[in-house]
Amino acid sequence: MGVIQIPEKVHRIIGTLAAAGHEAYAVGGCVRDALLGRKPADWDITTSASPMEVKMLFPRTIDTGIHHGTVTVMIGRDGFEVTTYRVDGEYEDCRHPKEVQFTKSLIEDLKRRDFTINAMAYNEEHGLVDEFDGVGDLRRGIIRCVGNAGERFTEDALRMLRAVRFSAQLDFTLEEHTKAAIGELCGRLQKVSAERIQAELVKLLVSSHPERIRDAWETGITRIILPEFDACMACGQDNPHHIYSVGEHTIHALQEIDADKVLRLTVLLHDFGKPAVKTTDERGTDHFHSHQAVSQDLAEAILKRLKFDNDTIRQVKKLTYYHDYHPALTCAGVRKAMHRIGEELFPLYLKVQRADILAQNPVTQERKLADLAEMERLYKKVLKEQSCFTLKQLAVTGHDLMDAGIPAGPELGNILNHLLEAVIEDPQKNERERLIEQALEFYKG
Ligand code: ATP
Ligand code: MG
Repeated sequence: MGVIQIPEKVHRIIGTLAAAGHEAYAVGGCVRDALLGRKPADWDITTSASPMEVKMLFPRTIDTGIHHGTVTVMIGRDGFEVTTYRVDGEYEDCRHPKEVQFTKSLIEDLKRRDFTINAMAYNEEHGLVDEFDGVGDLRRGIIRCVGNAGERFTEDALRMLRAVRFSAQLDFTLEEHTKAAIGELCGRLQKVSAERIQAELVKLLVSSHPERIRDAWETGITRIILPEFDACMACGQDNPHHIYSVGEHTIHALQEIDADKVLRLTVLLHDFGKPAVKTTDERGTDHFHSHQAVSQDLAEAILKRLKFDNDTIRQVKKLTYYHDYHPALTCAGVRKAMHRIGEELFPLYLKVQRADILAQNPVTQERKLADLAEMERLYKKVLKEQSCFTLKQLAVTGHDLMDAGIPAGPELGNILNHLLEAVIEDPQKNERERLIEQALEFYKG
């Protein structure tokens, strides 16, 4: 196990609390990550001091979750969450337990935490406090509940999804009782708020082992939070392009794409429309006509249900719709695709295509990858030549056309788009005078 190096600012906070006669420790994720030799995302502090006492000791604090004992202490531009030792009551839908009780016992505070690897505390004076053998479980690579798994999941059902999320981030396995308890209690996830599920699902997806979503499926979690995924797992693809079910194909594709939220969500959702449109022909081959549009609609419905922000929804929808779009492999064809998909999303579309191909039948991969490489070459060429594929790059503006006598309105927009289409086909046409002439012809004709 790694040695824990407390950052200077955390050291100062703990020192200030100790000098005032309180106990204070770094706790939870930061201790776990430091022991694993990973860089902690943030350092949380747990203390015997009450929130009021914490606030009196530091000049700049924010009442982050004061009712639950959490005060953020600001040092320079960095904030550190300092939480009073507490025992939790039952959790409700929201982010925090319904009622909390403060305590003077560190061990009581550690007992309320979800997993043994998250229930360790450390300070320089007392060293590591590891009441539940978190270090042993870190060594074994195991996610195990603190105490009785069934009770812990009954208190807060989100912990079941967190278990899989941590297993995906750390490449750990679920301890047997913990896994069995999820199987029994996963139905309770129904009552957990969409916001909390979204946060854990995203962490699972953008982890280094997104294939662990298979554990979420095996234990029954996806059946509750993402039943559409279970439909994909049950949907075979007897088709020369594929060797996996829709769900297994999705899992393989997730492993082939960058750990980015929009990309991983797109890959997760890209084929969700397949189960609904599946047909089998007389030769026994499965087809999935226009699944892209159905996937797009499902992506929108699912992301809204999980309360994702509009910008994420917009990007994932568009990438889902175009994931299987194959433009003509010419500069004009690729410019047209770039116009449709948009400059911002086009490079992401290329990545989605690659991941999709890499999770298909290896026999057909070589040709598909060669086509994709050609599309990437043409894409770079179009960018380098700065040939026009957006209205922005067109040699005339709406104002030019209005000056030429075409009134403002929807018709003007249509004409601009016509001009753009012509220029995308033939960049030679991107010339001001000629475009104005052509616009007037359109307008009069
Ligand atoms: P990350 O690196 O993703 O932030 P983390 O372990 O810090 O991981 P957080 O969600 O930030 O996870 O929670 C901080 C700590 O609070 C956890 O390590 C755990 O001890 C405790 N904790 C968080 N959520 C729960 C929960 N739902 N039930 C019990 N304990 C929890
Ligand atoms: Mg954290």
